[in-house]
Amino acid sequence: MTIELITFDLDNTLWESHQVLLRATRETNAWIVEHVPGYTSLSTERLTELNDTLRRERPEILHDVSEFRLAFMERCFQAVGVPVSDARRLSQAAFAVFIHWRCQVEPYPEAEQLLAELSSSYQLASITNGNSDVTKTSISEYFSFNVSAENAGAAKPSVKIFRRALELAGVSEPARAIHVGDSLREDIDGAVNAGMKSVWLDHEGTPIENNATVVVHELTDIGSAICSLDTST
Ligand SMILES: [Mg+2]
Repeated sequence: MTIELITFDLDNTLWESHQVLLRATRETNAWIVEHVPGYTSLSTERLTELNDTLRRERPEILHDVSEFRLAFMERCFQAVGVPVSDARRLSQAAFAVFIHWRCQVEPYPEAEQLLAELSSSYQLASITNGNSDVTKTSISEYFSFNVSAENAGAAKPSVKIFRRALELAGVSEPARAIHVGDSLREDIDGAVNAGMKSVWLDHEGTPIENNATVVVHELTDIGSAICSLDTST
């Protein structure tokens, strides 16, 4: 079957995100400690409780990690006595610190060549649940468009976010699209449910049953995996 679209997950598929997230969180916390008096008096238990309450009370923002983070910080600041109006302003300023560091991602060295090669034959797009900005990276030029959980109104593994990508690409037959990602639940099960083919980038070599169409262990194996799925080549 001819493949018309390849979609890529971003975090831990095209770049490492764990260290980036740790740093973003550390820098944001340092900013908050400096600007929100009393913030350090919040215990881990109290933070967990505030987080759980927010999840329960605002299920409509769970897919949107940016909006959730903003709302969570706002509640934390109010919990230590910051007036409502100041809490919103401070949470937005703290979020600006977070997103600055969150976007300091470095694509894996092999990513650029892979995307350059694939983009000469296929339409490429990104599908992410995260809030890093691919348009600010060195690999931005290879993507026709980028879909985030925030703008799709749903996060992977929801079929909705994959359908949004198919729609933007003008692909009416989902089996003519391949999604590549590192998460079995979010990427592979999501893509399979949407009727797309999938390539699981399994960094660990996990011996586990899975629904992926093809499993690879290195980014450099993705090109041949896609070739094997495109019977028109
Ligand atoms: Mg990922």
